[in-house]
Amino acid sequence: MKVFISCDIEGVSGVVVASPQTSPEGRDYGRARDLMTAEVNAAIRGALKAGATEIVVNDSHGPMTNILIEKLDSAATLITGTPKPLSMMQGIDRDFDAAVFVGYHAKMGEVGVLSHTISGASVADVWVNDIPVGETGINAGLAGYFGVPVVLVSGDDVVAKEAKALLPHVHTATVKWAVTRTAARCLPPEKARETIEEETFRALSSLSEAKAWLPESPVTFKIAFKDAGQACNASRMPYSEMIDGRTLTFTADDYLTAFKGLRAMIALAGR
Ligand SMILES: [Zn+2]
Repeated sequence: MKVFISCDIEGVSGVVVASPQTSPEGRDYGRARDLMTAEVNAAIRGALKAGATEIVVNDSHGPMTNILIEKLDSAATLITGTPKPLSMMQGIDRDFDAAVFVGYHAKMGEVGVLSHTISGASVADVWVNDIPVGETGINAGLAGYFGVPVVLVSGDDVVAKEAKALLPHVHTATVKWAVTRTAARCLPPEKARETIEEETFRALSSLSEAKAWLPESPVTFKIAFKDAGQACNASRMPYSEMIDGRTLTFTADDYLTAFKGLRAMIALAGR
C-alpha cells in the first residue's frame, strides 16, 4: 500500500496565530515546525500499522521547507521546497492507494483556526463546478484526478466538518476546537499525535469504503478575489473570464489543467 501525505501547518495542535507561529521570521516558528513534524510522524506510524509499504510526505505550507527532515520517520521520503507544479499535492500519481491530509485548515470565510484558501491576502472564495471548496476540496479533487481517495483530514473541528460535507467516507482527526479564527482549545501534543495515528490507522484499514472525489469534466473553477485590482491582475490569464468586479472563471477539459489555471490566476493576482 502506497500512501501520500500532504501536510500544512495551520491545523496543527498548538498553532493558532499566523506570523509568530507560521512564518519563518516568527518567534514561535521553530516550535510550530517541530509540532508539525511530530504530527506527520504520527500519521506515518498509523499508515505503517495499517500496512503501508511506501510513504511520500509533501511539505505543503508557505515556503514548503517546514518539516524537519532530521526528525522525520525514516519510513517516509520528503518532498520539500517550492515552486512545485502540483503545490500541496506534488508527488501524487496513480500508483498511490490513499492520500492523508495533516494540519489542514478551514476555507476562507469560516471561523476556523487561520482559515484561508491558498492565499489569505487575495482569495475570498473558490468554487469548483459551483461547489464551494477550500484547500481540502481543491486538493481532494487533484487526488481524485489520479484516482486516489483522501481518507483522513486532521486539523480543527471546522475543517473536519468541511471535509465530511464533501467526502462522506473521510475520517477526521480533530486536534483543536476553534474559539475564534485565532484562538482554539487544543489537545496536548501527545494526545493530538495519538488521535492522528489512530485515525490514520482506522482510515487506511477501511480503505475499501473510501471513494476518490473528482468533479465532472469540463471543470470550471470560479474564484472571487478580495478586491477588483487583484481580479483585474488575474484576468490576464488566457481563457479566463471576468464575471464581475472581483470574480473570474477558468474552464478546462480536465481537473489538472483547471487546477493549474487556478494557481496561475492566484499568482497573477498579487497581494
Ligand atoms: Zn493552507
